[in-house]
Amino acid sequence: MIAAQRPLVQSLLDGVARIGADPPGITREAYGRGENEAMALLAGAAQALDLDCSFDAGANLTMRWPGTDPEAAPLVVGSHLDSVVQGGNFDGAAGVIAGLAAVAALQSSGVRPRAGIEVMALRCEEAVWFGLGLIGSRSLLARLPAGALDLPHARSGLTLGQSIAACGGDPARLASGVPLRDPKTLGAYLEVHIEQAPQLIEAGQPVAICLANPGNVRHPRIRITGEDAHTGLPHRFRRDAALAGAEFALALERLWLEEDRAGRPMAVTIGRFHTLADRHAMTVVPGQFELSLDLRAYDPAHLAQLEARLQAIAAEVGAARDVT
Ligand SMILES: [Zn+2]
Repeated sequence: MIAAQRPLVQSLLDGVARIGADPPGITREAYGRGENEAMALLAGAAQALDLDCSFDAGANLTMRWPGTDPEAAPLVVGSHLDSVVQGGNFDGAAGVIAGLAAVAALQSSGVRPRAGIEVMALRCEEAVWFGLGLIGSRSLLARLPAGALDLPHARSGLTLGQSIAACGGDPARLASGVPLRDPKTLGAYLEVHIEQAPQLIEAGQPVAICLANPGNVRHPRIRITGEDAHTGLPHRFRRDAALAGAEFALALERLWLEEDRAGRPMAVTIGRFHTLADRHAMTVVPGQFELSLDLRAYDPAHLAQLEARLQAIAAEVGAARDVT
């Protein structure tokens, strides 16, 4: 029943890949051409399955298949349709297309569920477009932070409010702070998503159930300050901020590996790690160093513990290398 939907799934995945083609990956900009065209393609497929398509004030697309009992809370299946720049085709899109494929499979086998199924294509999950992620879902639940509607789009320069309006949404409605959907009226939410790691391949499993989402602590800009000096300065006098940064990073990696061995999953990502371009030079001991840090763990108590360890490591490295 599911295998019979392979041609539909393949043609939709190929279709959204063509829309976003940007070798070596795909780019579907949020509240822009890529996401809009992908929404139109999937809405067309949904209409062919007799689903009722509508856009909400956040310009999210909902494709409804009513159940036999109009009182039954619907099952929502969905994901996002935007991507990062030159990202993967399956990220997000697979979850929306999976919902359509499931409806098609049920229809072709003659099953009509009691509760309706709503396939949702959400806007702007990726933070690259406005410096803020999950905008479609936040709109739905009135969780947009203050000022979000004024954030500029990374490409068009339009504000989020203008971008939403340009896609047929209603930013004034979002600004009212009233959720577009009441979660209590939804039966369940199901999202199929690609794994962002090869663990399933490693385990030889086609699919797994996600039991939790990690929370994070972010330090977007950590500045280490030592003292600029000439290469002639002997080691014992140096206050080298770059070496302190390196030691800090490696200490965090050791912490991560320890936690892994103890069966307590976490992750540390240092996406930015550099001396300052306006001061660094081959023959200058760097007195300034910058890094960003994203720390993740599943359990809030574990995350708080890790943040405390991180602070302790920073203090140790700072004392040992005389930097702050
Ligand atoms: Zn995704």
